[in-house]
Amino acid sequence: MTTPIIVVVGAGVVGLSTAIEIQERIPSAKVYIVAEVLPGDPKSIKYTSLWAGAHHVSLAENEGQLRLDSKTFRRMWEMSEGGHPAEHCFLRLQQTEYYSDKRNNEGNTDRLHFMPDYRVFKDSELIEGSLSGVEFTTLTIDTPVYLPYLLSRFESAGGTIIRASISALSSLLTGTLVPEKPSAIISCPGLGAATIKGIEDPDVYPIRGQTVLVRTPWVRFGRTLSEPGVDGIWTYIIPRRSGDVILGGVKQVNDFRPEPLKEITEDILRRCLKLCPELVTGSPEFKSSTSGPEAEGGGTPRKVTVDDLRPFIIEEGCGLRPARKGGIRFEVDWLSAAESTNGKIPVIHHYGHGGFGYQSSWGSAEKAVDLLQTVL
Ligand SMILES: Cc1cc2nc3c(=O)[nH]c(=O)nc-3n(C[C@H](O)[C@H](O)[C@H](O)COP(=O)(O)OP(=O)(O)OC[C@H]3O[C@@H](n4cnc5c(N)ncnc54)[C@H](O)[C@@H]3O)c2cc1C
Repeated sequence: MTTPIIVVVGAGVVGLSTAIEIQERIPSAKVYIVAEVLPGDPKSIKYTSLWAGAHHVSLAENEGQLRLDSKTFRRMWEMSEGGHPAEHCFLRLQQTEYYSDKRNNEGNTDRLHFMPDYRVFKDSELIEGSLSGVEFTTLTIDTPVYLPYLLSRFESAGGTIIRASISALSSLLTGTLVPEKPSAIISCPGLGAATIKGIEDPDVYPIRGQTVLVRTPWVRFGRTLSEPGVDGIWTYIIPRRSGDVILGGVKQVNDFRPEPLKEITEDILRRCLKLCPELVTGSPEFKSSTSGPEAEGGGTPRKVTVDDLRPFIIEEGCGLRPARKGGIRFEVDWLSAAESTNGKIPVIHHYGHGGFGYQSSWGSAEKAVDLLQTVL
């Protein structure tokens, strides 16, 4: 039996999960990853995966996406189990979602029904600015820990990494970059799909996100307040296992600005503190300043401000969610003889994960490898 040579383009969460899925389902395959940016590199606007929160809270708008998300949740839940080698990458926690519109009981929150301990809030439990809400148990992914975990899992299963920026898929066939002739290519380049020759997908576009990373290890629950629509306000608190917490966010369509903007950082801090005063009031310093003989004198509790939150800031950042009109692309294409001197090579397109690349990663990788198996 010949050894299938599979080349995956991209080492974000999508490329890495796909490469591992290939190794597990096609053990005879030799798998290469070709990517310009790798986990462990300094954070950059060219690599979205390091900027994600990331939590598992499905945003699915159709059955297909919901299947990918729920499969991924089940897999990540297993991985977050005590004693699993990936346990350290995850934090299981209670998640609260508040919506500024009336969603409950109308069927459009069904996408979260599969989550453990799912419960719809009564009106009396809602907060200012919300008209509905739910709570459930989920997990968050510590992205700077999870990506190196995926990379080392890939390498220890025999995978090879080639660091390179490619301008055309056909450059993978010349023998100079990848030493063997590929049996198939899987393209997972995120936003790179808009520019790499052989893909050049006009439907791919960025949705810019901006976040503030704080060190507030006393916050061990997730909380979101969201308005409907892609331009809506979206405030979220995502704690990681390490004790770091991601505060966000924004959704700026077709905005490529690579640096965090001061006014957005201030707005995120203000919104997050309003949604989650515990970011400050849970700190040991705040607790000790509001307990003891003086505080017991019966004065009104001190109002917390953004200045109380500033000492906990580690970093501000921004990333570009690789969105695609029509959703994730799952499609087999062929590198034609004109582009390749080696004859036709199947290309499985697998990109366009927008704001849900982590929470759909395993389900999505499974579907891409199903396609790969049809062409091998
Ligand atoms: C602020 C923010 C918060 C988010 N929160 C969540 C969340 O809570 N949950 C969730 O599920 N998702 C979240 N996301 C979305 C998630 O981060 C993305 O969906 C995911 O990271 C996309 O991964 P990717 O592998 O497709 O792309 P990327 O991570 O961008 O990786 C692309 C890879 O392709 C390579 N590449 C591209 N072009 C080329 C080229 N020409 N040559 C060689 N290599 C190339 C790159 O070097 C890189 O290795 C968030 C995103 C942001 C910005």
